[in-house]
Order: sequence, then structure tokens, then C-alpha cells
Amino acid sequence: MGDSLRIMAISAHPADFCSRSGGTLIKHIRAGAQVRVIWLSHGETDESKLLFDQNPDISLDEVRRVRAQEAMDCVQVMGAEGRMLGFGDNPLRMTPARIEALAAEVQAFAPQVVLTHWRDELTYPTHWIAADAALKAVRHVKGTNDIRFFEPNIGTAARVGFQPDHYVDIGDVFEHKVEALRTLAAQPHLVEMYTTCNRWRGIEAGCRYAEAFVRHAPRVAVQQLLL
Ligand SMILES: [Zn+2]
Repeated sequence: MGDSLRIMAISAHPADFCSRSGGTLIKHIRAGAQVRVIWLSHGETDESKLLFDQNPDISLDEVRRVRAQEAMDCVQVMGAEGRMLGFGDNPLRMTPARIEALAAEVQAFAPQVVLTHWRDELTYPTHWIAADAALKAVRHVKGTNDIRFFEPNIGTAARVGFQPDHYVDIGDVFEHKVEALRTLAAQPHLVEMYTTCNRWRGIEAGCRYAEAFVRHAPRVAVQQLLL
């Protein structure tokens, strides 16, 4: 697999990884990193309302087919690869066997960094379960312990205690991120919402557009003196 940095994003639904960390992933891909996205569900009932509004008779299988295609189109625009596990949503059920399957994905790709949902996103069970499953799966695999949590659902950060401890300036790739988000046509509102979110995080970070993260169990720096 070579010596390039490998980053895995574990996403509950098709769009989550891109809306929260798409700019960061694009920056790393441009710098030579390999990125693989694992989707735990198609978001067929949690995040596909528009498809049912447009066609009340649409079957769940057809919704899954549309969402899987959008997800693959999204990673293609970014220059990443993706694997749809399709465990179902509302809420996602991560059985021990499914956690083992996710751990096998982590083992096979051997990422140095894993991005996933905020561990305390209690207001959205499928996101919270995805984060919990990602932590458990990574624990099964030796050598991968750098986990970064991305944003909870926009508007809920204060309620679920998501306080960023680092930001990535995505100003130089923001248009590319928007292009990737537009492939997720069943959720057209994401472009405006995450333009606002990334602009707000940019104000916090002192740049135009930024994505915000919390690092899981960060290593503590040891210094000789305070300054
Ligand atoms: Zn989601």
C-alpha cells in the first residue's frame, strides 16, 4: 500500500463525512494521502426525505440504490475510495458481528488516522452509535489509535458538548468540497448549511473556511519549561 498517509472516514450516512470533513480529506488527497470512506448505512430513512417527497411510492431498495450511487460519486469527485456496508438506519444497529466486520475494514486499510462522528452526539442515535462502533472497531486493531471526531449535526454542537480542539483551514479547497457535496443530490440543503458552518468555524480559527475536530485521547506534550 506504499508509505503514503492513509486516512479512513467512518460515516453513519452517505453525506456525513463530506459535510463535516470533506475539505480536510480533499487537502490530504491533494498532498498524496489515500482516503477510504466506510458508510455504515445508506441513510435510507434517516436522511433521504427528499426522495420520498418527490416519489411517495419509491421503494427502500431504490432509495438505497440512489444513495449508494451518490456516495460513490461523492468520493470519486474527491479522489477517494468508498465501501458501503449498508447496515440500515433509524437507528443503526451495530451488533458484535457488524463491529467485527468494521474492524476487518480498519485492519485491511490500516489507516494512521480515523475520522468519525462526535462520540457524545446523543441527540442523533445513529451518529452516536456510529462513533461508538468506530471506537470499538479501532480498538480491535493494533496500531490505529489516532481518532478525530468531526462535527455533530449542525446547530447541536453546544448541546452535545462539541468544543473543537483543532481546525483545518479549507479555504483553498472549499469549492472542491462544494462540488463533492453537490453529488449528494438527495440532500441539497447541505451546501448552504455547511457553507455557513465552515464560515463560522473559519471565524473561530481566523481564516475564511475551516472544519473543526476533537482529537480522541490526545497525547500530552512534555516540555522542559512553560515557554
Ligand atoms: Zn448523518
